[in-house]
Amino acid sequence: MATLVLKNVNKKYENGAKAVFDCNLSVRDKEFIVIVGPEGCGKSTLLRMIAGLEEVEEGDIFIGGKSVKGISPKERDLAMLSQSNSLNPNLSIYDNLAFGLKLRKVSSEEIDSKVKAVASLFGLTEFLSKKPKNLTASQKQRVMIGRAVAREPKLFLFDEPLSNLDSKLRVQMRSEIVKLHARISSTFVYATRDQIEAMTLGTRLVVMKDGFLQQIDTPQNLYDYPVNLFVAEYFGLPRMNVFYGVTLFSVEGKVYASFLGGEKILLPNTLVARIERAEEYVDTGKKLILGIRPEDVHEDQRFLSASPETVVKGKVDIVERLGSESRVHAVPVSQEDCASPDTIVAKVDSRATLERGDVAEFAFDAKHIHLFDENERSLLKRDEFYKNVPENAEGAAFVPLTPSEMIQKRQPEKKAKKK
Ligand code: ADP
Repeated sequence: MATLVLKNVNKKYENGAKAVFDCNLSVRDKEFIVIVGPEGCGKSTLLRMIAGLEEVEEGDIFIGGKSVKGISPKERDLAMLSQSNSLNPNLSIYDNLAFGLKLRKVSSEEIDSKVKAVASLFGLTEFLSKKPKNLTASQKQRVMIGRAVAREPKLFLFDEPLSNLDSKLRVQMRSEIVKLHARISSTFVYATRDQIEAMTLGTRLVVMKDGFLQQIDTPQNLYDYPVNLFVAEYFGLPRMNVFYGVTLFSVEGKVYASFLGGEKILLPNTLVARIERAEEYVDTGKKLILGIRPEDVHEDQRFLSASPETVVKGKVDIVERLGSESRVHAVPVSQEDCASPDTIVAKVDSRATLERGDVAEFAFDAKHIHLFDENERSLLKRDEFYKNVPENAEGAAFVPLTPSEMIQKRQPEKKAKKK
């Protein structure tokens, strides 16, 4: 059993740099969990603490229910794979695969059967007598993963193992890692910056920023119910459209959002019912942040006629034609004279005929609007489409700190001095 539990884990490096703050996480046996966030958010530090390569400053880590305090990396029975892993160039693929087993004094018969089984699993049988220099990058990656698999560790830690590979190879290795996880009974913890890698690999994602947990949830829940603006913007290509300084007002029981220098769109009742503390925002002039994903902004006639009250006029600035779809960047007509106007990005059908300079209508699919308060926290309650996953009960209830609370926690000394 390789459950993994992190309890109030904190890490400060010797130079005083604090890399991880109050990390609590429960990974169940055989789960595939992905830690995702921008460079420097603490992913490697977290993995290295789990592996025992870095000391935990505060808090505790439990593998298989047992605290690993004082237990050496070797005794933790886990494999850490990163881009810096390399094969021994002087050894054959067979000996590279056998390396970890030999160190553990496994009998040569057992080594032979394990190496051959792993070679067959990874399609490496024909290369067993070859040296690493005769293999392609993808084959070498497979040997490195195979070498870890041969040891049968309880827990696999992947630290951005694919970040040095070209995009085609990354896609190929991604599916190999998914298949591997399905085949072997181990817990996988995988760190990456790449949102696509994270979403396609993980059954649950742990989003981090500046050393702080942001949200722990399934890929779909993260995408549809981001807990804050950071998570909302991190996932999705192109990025979510975000508009600041939005106010809400009501007319005869209907609620509208006013934004983009005078535009207004009708919010559907289903969305209004989900707004927390709606009374603080409707007809008060209090400002909030509105987000909408580019795929929820439409320019086709059918959608425009069906939603006449969510239409915004825009002047097309850029059209990016990607073959399967086009991305249209438009400046709201209401802001044409602004020095720094907002941009509306719409993901549209590749057959759309819009060109730069055209003035077009864009309909917002308002039921998919996201609203955030001034602290960038989502103002929307989850509805019946939020998928409750039993193992994520704790994650679903987690509330991240706001950006200013994070800044305060990062600089406690400065704050104390100011007082
Ligand atoms: P990620 O893996 O998400 O890119 P890291 O865990 O490598 O992030 O780094 C988190 C933070 O800790 C960064 O600010 C980084 O500069 C700092 N850091 C990482 N390793 C060390 C170290 N050995 N000494 C001091 N600071 C470090």
